[in-house]
Amino acid sequence: MIVKSQGLVLRIQPYSRTSQITVWLTPNHGRIATLAKGAYRPKYTSQGQCDLFYTCELLYYPRETPRLNILKECSVLDLRLEFRSDPGACACASYLCDLTARLCPPDSPHPELFDLLGATLNSLPTARFQVVLLFWFELRLLALMGLAPRLTTCPLCSEPVLSQSSPAHFSAVEGGLICADCAAGHTESRHTLTPDVLAVLQDWEAAPTPQQALRTVCSARQQNILRSALGEFLHYHLELMPPSRAIAFNLISGGSPK
Ligand SMILES: [Zn+2]
Repeated sequence: MIVKSQGLVLRIQPYSRTSQITVWLTPNHGRIATLAKGAYRPKYTSQGQCDLFYTCELLYYPRETPRLNILKECSVLDLRLEFRSDPGACACASYLCDLTARLCPPDSPHPELFDLLGATLNSLPTARFQVVLLFWFELRLLALMGLAPRLTTCPLCSEPVLSQSSPAHFSAVEGGLICADCAAGHTESRHTLTPDVLAVLQDWEAAPTPQQALRTVCSARQQNILRSALGEFLHYHLELMPPSRAIAFNLISGGSPK
């Protein structure tokens, strides 16, 4: 049996002196890995057609054990060449692909994640504030995993969290904003979100597309607070903190547009 699928390249690594493993995100099979035998030989014809961030159409022979499918053909649908000349966008794309590769389970359908990653990558090179797309992607990814931070009711007492005029308390451990009463007796680490920072977070959480998310920009101060709060949230709930996150944020953070 041969399988035909679209795939977005998340990671490429050598397998031997002549063969290459590519990790893909596919709509209907989630994360898969393919082995391209002879990919590093001079006469191999498909090797140049597959690089990081490409979307391709694949033909592969599935293998159960090990889960290393044999690539038969690969034709490019979207090269995303803009990343080759934009180090900031490239660092962002690397982080998003790295995060996806670590989180997406193998061989299970994830069409929403495929669409989310593709749309975010397509928006990155021209985005005036690329950092917005990193935050937005993290929030959408958490939502897809059923782990979105709670921003309207307190996870401890279920009372509405009123924060239009006073700072709100964000707890990664408790899963979102906690009310002032619960915060008073709460000893876990928490972040104070002023109303303006919370408004930014709520705008992004409600934005269905990258274009919508990019309508809400945030200052360097707001970025620092959200980078720390969301970073701790990802670390606690997903049990990971890839180095690629710090690299991407350090390259593009700040208040000025690119
Ligand atoms: Zn409460």
